[in-house]
Amino acid sequence: MTEQTRPIALFDMQAQQALIRPELDRRIASVLSSGRFINGPEVVELEKRLADFAGCAHAVGVSSGTDALQIAMMAEGIGRGDAVFLPAFTYTATAEVPLVLGATPVFVDVDPETFNIDLADLERRIELVVKEGKLKPRALVGVDLFGLPADWPALRAIAQKHGLFTLDDAAQAFGAALHGQRLGRHADATALSFYPTKTLGCYGDGGALLTDSAERAELYRSLRTHGEGGGRYEVLRTGMNGRLDTLQAAILLCKMDLFEQELKDRAKVASWYGARLTGKVGLQRLSNEAESAWGLYTIRLSGPEQRAKVQEALKAQGIPFGVYYPKPLHHQPAYQGAHAAGLAAAPALAVAESLCHQVMSLPMHPYLTEGEVERVCNAVVAAVS
Ligand SMILES: *Cc1c(COP(=O)(O)O)cnc(C)c1O
Repeated sequence: MTEQTRPIALFDMQAQQALIRPELDRRIASVLSSGRFINGPEVVELEKRLADFAGCAHAVGVSSGTDALQIAMMAEGIGRGDAVFLPAFTYTATAEVPLVLGATPVFVDVDPETFNIDLADLERRIELVVKEGKLKPRALVGVDLFGLPADWPALRAIAQKHGLFTLDDAAQAFGAALHGQRLGRHADATALSFYPTKTLGCYGDGGALLTDSAERAELYRSLRTHGEGGGRYEVLRTGMNGRLDTLQAAILLCKMDLFEQELKDRAKVASWYGARLTGKVGLQRLSNEAESAWGLYTIRLSGPEQRAKVQEALKAQGIPFGVYYPKPLHHQPAYQGAHAAGLAAAPALAVAESLCHQVMSLPMHPYLTEGEVERVCNAVVAAVS
């Protein structure tokens, strides 16, 4: 097929698979013959590779990004009566985890240009929680939305002032860097997701926790295996079944061979988009300090009417797109009650609410060609002109 007619994918896992298929077959066959489907040597090998890649001391493989968040919060003993601050504009899992543990998510507004947590609003809400005195501020979850690192030095400073545990939800951002340091040590713990469409994805569910703290890493290993101690069948704490399985680790090891190059290619695709879309639509603002992992390429339109026009134009050309996210978390039926209970006098979450009516994500993967990006941009630009 020529470039003009090849269907454009929102995420492309086939092109990547074709490149590593022999290695995948070899690694999978090796696990099948070893029979070590749980805690096989591939898990240990992957953990070492992830820690080296991120430049942090410890990596602990877990069963998903959601479980990574949960294990990190369980290790801190977060639960009833605790306030966990997190952005209102993110994936559901970020808010779900504190609720599962009995804690209360306190939704924070986001910055209109980076789409990441708004620092002034965060401080305001921490102070309100302290003033109302019902909840104890315990943790801050920063999300690196669409692959762009949150302002971690500033978040750490705020957390330190209020004694908060910092958790980096880097599920969309593995490979991103801030001040030349990859995500993995900007917060007390960093949660990764290996859901298939993330920057590093497996063929099922998987995740990892990164940390520089040996004590935390040991707790995470215990918690992912039912809270076991040094010996098997010795239960030290209430844990969960949260392990990364050996087959997924083997698959991820094959993908790690390509990862560095894929990140460069994602950045190249983003630069092609940027060259054609700057000044035509709103774009996520990059700073000099941050290198996005480009998990998603998201544009911001003037409102729902303009977004619908762009969507129609893309549909007419068979170009896929996504809307991340159509609803802020505090408007989700499941979370409205917690939102109301968290802060009696909660200020509006105006930016998060408006972004939900304005954003949409364009095809983004390392195997897009410049011609394909041009086709997408031509359709977008024509629809907004
Ligand atoms: C994908 C994602 C998660 C959850 O990861 P899973 O592996 O699907 O459990 C958590 N937070 C964010 C921001 C995500 O994008």
